[in-house]
Amino acid sequence: MSTSIPAETARHVLWTFGHRGGIQPGTYHQKLLDLLAYAPPVELAKFAQVFPAEAEAVRMAKYDEDGVKRLKNAAGLTCIRCGDEDGPFVGAPRQPLCEPCARPMPLDGVA
Ligand SMILES: [Zn+2]
Repeated sequence: MSTSIPAETARHVLWTFGHRGGIQPGTYHQKLLDLLAYAPPVELAKFAQVFPAEAEAVRMAKYDEDGVKRLKNAAGLTCIRCGDEDGPFVGAPRQPLCEPCARPMPLDGVA
């Protein structure tokens, strides 16, 4: 089972765990995500029934080796071509490309 994480939720969860590119949510989501972040796995699974995206994003951030990376992808914080995290990005948040990747490639290979 995989729950897709909205970009906004990903950014809020990144902020909750202190990662670069995160955005501070409003008070309600701040308290909700804080609660989820402190919930033991069994409790987190219960919350997942009601808050599937939030609970899955928190679970990824806490337990998945590549969870933060995938949240950054969902948040539009990585280049979809080279995986670069530096930005600035063109086409964010849906199709983010770093500036070198967004530059049109000359067909004859000569710049
Ligand atoms: Zn790139």
